[in-house]
Amino acid sequence: MRLITRHGPVVEPMLDPRTDEERLEAPVQWGHAYVKFRNDNGVPEIRIGVKEFKCIGVSPPQDHPHIYLDMGNDDTILCPYCATLFRFDTRLGPGEADPPDCLFIDELGE
Ligand SMILES: [Zn+2]
Repeated sequence: MRLITRHGPVVEPMLDPRTDEERLEAPVQWGHAYVKFRNDNGVPEIRIGVKEFKCIGVSPPQDHPHIYLDMGNDDTILCPYCATLFRFDTRLGPGEADPPDCLFIDELGE
């Protein structure tokens, strides 16, 4: 039996060898800064897709010091400055928040 290849050799697509889980656990950095969140509307809880991030309180210039927060093994963390409760939600992507406008894009970086 002869094999006739009409379209030339089959090229394997480039695959990311990491699993979805590993991708989610990869450190999320935008530039050199962590994802930042704010609570302009004073909601009691913000759901986010990362466990390491920075809370700035509210939009500048009324922001509090941009502190780094790490949930570690927990799914929630309370910001010591503005008392916002952040809850890790696996349904959200690294750059997502609920409410969505709690994600703060720092144009200038740090
Ligand atoms: Zn805060």
